[in-house]
Amino acid sequence: MRDSRLHAKRGACALILCAAVAAPATATAQDGSGGGSMYVATPKVSKVTCLRSCASKKRLRGGSVLVVKGSELAGVSQLTYDGSYGTGDDVTVKVRAGSNTRVQARVPLGAVTGPISLTTTAGGHSRPSKPVLILPPLPPEPNPELSPVPGPRVAGAPRLETGTSRTKAFVDARPGVKFSFRLSGASATSLTVELVSAVDGTVVKTWTPQDVAPDVVQSVSWNGRLGHSAARPGRYSFRLTAAGADGSVARSSQTGDVQRDAFDLYDHIFPVRGAHAFGGAAGRFGAGRTGHTHQGQDTFAKCGTRLVAARGGRVKYKAYHSLAGNYIVIDGDNTDVDYAYMHLDQPSPFSAGDRVYTGQTIGAVGDTGDAVGCHLHLELWTGPGWYDGGHPFDPLPSLKAWDSWS
Ligand SMILES: [Zn+2]
Repeated sequence: MRDSRLHAKRGACALILCAAVAAPATATAQDGSGGGSMYVATPKVSKVTCLRSCASKKRLRGGSVLVVKGSELAGVSQLTYDGSYGTGDDVTVKVRAGSNTRVQARVPLGAVTGPISLTTTAGGHSRPSKPVLILPPLPPEPNPELSPVPGPRVAGAPRLETGTSRTKAFVDARPGVKFSFRLSGASATSLTVELVSAVDGTVVKTWTPQDVAPDVVQSVSWNGRLGHSAARPGRYSFRLTAAGADGSVARSSQTGDVQRDAFDLYDHIFPVRGAHAFGGAAGRFGAGRTGHTHQGQDTFAKCGTRLVAARGGRVKYKAYHSLAGNYIVIDGDNTDVDYAYMHLDQPSPFSAGDRVYTGQTIGAVGDTGDAVGCHLHLELWTGPGWYDGGHPFDPLPSLKAWDSWS
């Protein structure tokens, strides 16, 4: 009975408060006079496995189909890939009604490693599962040099060649992804370059180059931002459309082509650019230290291994500390996370106030300060930031994800 009242209350609570209501302390505080009689089942995830188009049984990739086993699953209508910290990388898909113990769902191209959670039509929410490893979809076809396009063309329209500088890109990196193109045979009356999200097929950005003459190589570049915001990670592709004087049209790729002039956009790059290993228990977040606990994750690598900004942003502090050694703290661009890199072999060339881009070199692995062995000590802090009202959280899941793609 107490359980059903708890569920009723959960079903009725504002979404953001549900987790708090589910806490045992709150549950026992209920007075039982709520009068709620509606039972809202709370789905529970016990196991997630990959069914089709898998990297392996336990490793999914965009385009896979997964199976969730658990209880109270009959009413489940949505599955959310929670990704890493924050909601910016969350992806929700519809789930076909299955049995009470089993549901199936598609892994969209945009889903990233992290827990999954389930929502029922009646508003029940499961707790997040253990993190599920999701690998990127099969890679785009590299096409760094101009080559004739496979896309449709009406006779009379210009012939098109295109090329895309890279198949892997990072939000807020410099240089960005460069798309080059050239017309031949005829001039165009108009040119349009569209950036298409392969996750849902929407056009997220458009360029209209003015030089419509043939035999001229032109290009556009993109840095993973849309206005002042970071674009969602995932597969994107460039699509060029050229209209001829007689109304004939040529396109560089078919609608739904997620390989031609395509690239995968990631929100972070792994910061240690060389052979590396995560430390043992002592290097973990929360490990005991004299007088405090370990607030970061250690990644061991040879002294001198290049260190880059996992995410661009603004440098908040650059200093030396007897424990941290040479360190630098970067307020991540569009992330609400501060990134603190410690034990650098030399002071970073960047200073407080400087703008740093994703993947830019910020120093090298060292053992300055209180360090046994050369390693990067990385701390991740929630907003408002490092010793600024935020709190540290475990960087290891993020580091492992970044390491899986970069
Ligand atoms: Zn450490």
